[in-house]
Amino acid sequence: MSGRKADSSNNGTASRRRSIKGELMRITTAKRYVPRSGYVLLLLLFVLTQGVLISITGREGQIMIGKTVFYLRDAAGIFSSLGNMCIILIVLLYRKTGFITGMIILFGQFPMMLINIVVRHNYGALPGVFSNIFTLVMVILLFITQRRIDRYQKKVLEQALLDPLTGLPNRYAGREYFNRLIKKGEKFIYVASDINNFKSINDSMGYEVGNRILNEIANRFRELADSGKTGTFNLVAHVSGDEFGFSIQDYSSEEDVLKTIRLFREELERKITIDDFDYYVNSSFGYAEYPTDAKDVETLVSFSSMALHEAKRRGFVKEPLHFQKELLESEQKIETERKIREALDTDAVVCYLQPQFDISHNLRGFEALARIKNKDGSFISPAEFIPVAEKTGIVDRIDMCVFRKAVEFMESAGKAGKTDFTVSVNISVKHLQKNSFMEELRGILDTYDVAPERLEIEITESVMIDSVERALERINEVKKLGIMVAIDDFGTGYSSLSYLHSLPANLLKIDKSFIDEMNTEESNKQYVQSIISIGHVMRLEVISEGVENEDQLDALKEIGCDYIQGFLWGRPMPAEDAKKLI
Ligand code: C2E
Ligand code: MG
Ligand code: MG
Repeated sequence: MSGRKADSSNNGTASRRRSIKGELMRITTAKRYVPRSGYVLLLLLFVLTQGVLISITGREGQIMIGKTVFYLRDAAGIFSSLGNMCIILIVLLYRKTGFITGMIILFGQFPMMLINIVVRHNYGALPGVFSNIFTLVMVILLFITQRRIDRYQKKVLEQALLDPLTGLPNRYAGREYFNRLIKKGEKFIYVASDINNFKSINDSMGYEVGNRILNEIANRFRELADSGKTGTFNLVAHVSGDEFGFSIQDYSSEEDVLKTIRLFREELERKITIDDFDYYVNSSFGYAEYPTDAKDVETLVSFSSMALHEAKRRGFVKEPLHFQKELLESEQKIETERKIREALDTDAVVCYLQPQFDISHNLRGFEALARIKNKDGSFISPAEFIPVAEKTGIVDRIDMCVFRKAVEFMESAGKAGKTDFTVSVNISVKHLQKNSFMEELRGILDTYDVAPERLEIEITESVMIDSVERALERINEVKKLGIMVAIDDFGTGYSSLSYLHSLPANLLKIDKSFIDEMNTEESNKQYVQSIISIGHVMRLEVISEGVENEDQLDALKEIGCDYIQGFLWGRPMPAEDAKKLI
């Protein structure tokens, strides 16, 4: 356990020493707190009983309550017992202070009693002496038992708070401590670090050596924090395995922070000798500040780890990395990738189908669109996961999964006698260029009983023109299988006419952005009209995407668009609904 304010006489807190262990203990024992006023109250009660006792002892009076007679000398026993109970309660509730108080009172009473008996020959006080001795024994036994329980509790608490390997506070203790700082509103920094390639030390030298290295690092960190050399206050925790975390408190500038981390780094990087072997380890450091970066411990720790992992990702950067909001984005991408992989592995990638109609509202077919289901039943949008899937090279798995499901839908509709519609699937250009693409395509055609002429693949214009040659070659092969080809999101990719002419496509899909703007200005409408005309000149059919209202529909009819796809006539829907539509 480690942590001490630097002995910095310059900031006026030189004499303020904080025992982290003490603070942690206080956090966990807070529930046992009893107010001081109770102590005073019990003492007063005790004094009161003794006052009454003195005033009625030796009196011969009596009181009548109803028909019952009470003698005052009998009441003395009641008040004596009440007094003893007060003492026992004080010991029980106020531990050491209570015990000392009890001892002073009980021993203080003996001389009075003895004088009463020996000098005044008042033998009626004899039972009081025995009662006093009995209470004394009780109090001592009570105190000893309590001490034992307390010591045991302390040990259990220490075990719960301290990491057994390094003796540093563990993750739980660290978080409790930081929560306390947050409750107090104290500004502080949490620094996350983990040792680079520690696994390889464990693998090559064994866990025994790995543990001794961790221990050595923990000792160095503890000593550094206790030495006050950093000039800031630090609580070091062993979070898990090769992960350490420490707080930086009482700093006044970023320089203080960087200096502290640098000193921790230097400790870590110094040679570690174990059994005559020298080891050198290093770590990256990431940090975040409460309250500027995060308002609670969980977020603070997670932001620091994000910064740490980013530092690692960038290679071994010497400078510690301060958390920045941009990191959230890349973290989100990693999370999205995880969700995609999980969805692929658990068959949670769903195929939705959006209908396409000719201009007289007769069904042409469907576009298959990928959806990923969250655990709560909501969907992640392809706009979010397709770019991540493309970057991480798993888009082909999504494409094929959707393709298979779309073809399954087609086959089952065919069995019900419905074959007069097309199904279009989106294929990423990266996937299209994969060597195995054609094989996968043939595999699907061999497995399912569907007509290739009813299948269409959609390739986005903007990405296709980046690698025309290869894409063209592939598209020709696809065409040879009898499958149709659509150019998706047309208008966003600046294709040249000659390139467009050489594409063996069937369908041009005008991007939604043009349809959105179509009715805002006449020239926009003319632009869409020109696209349709060019398409027709090239013997392509033309479909407009994202048609949402009647005005757009009317305009598209007027300028000769062949097909319509959009929320106006049909949203993407599950396969069962699509079947009903057919
Ligand atoms: P896309 O191929 O251009 O698909 C059309 C998108 O426009 C779909 O979005 C569809 O839901 C949406 N849409 C259609 N009509 C309307 C409308 O009237 N209003 C509005 N606001 N939106 C409309 P979605 O399903 O979110 O897909 C987005 C993009 O993700 C697709 O654009 C496609 O490029 C890609 N994508 C979807 N599924 C797959 C897949 O299985 N593989 C690959 N490689 N890409 C896919
Ligand atoms: Mg599409
Ligand atoms: Mg599109």
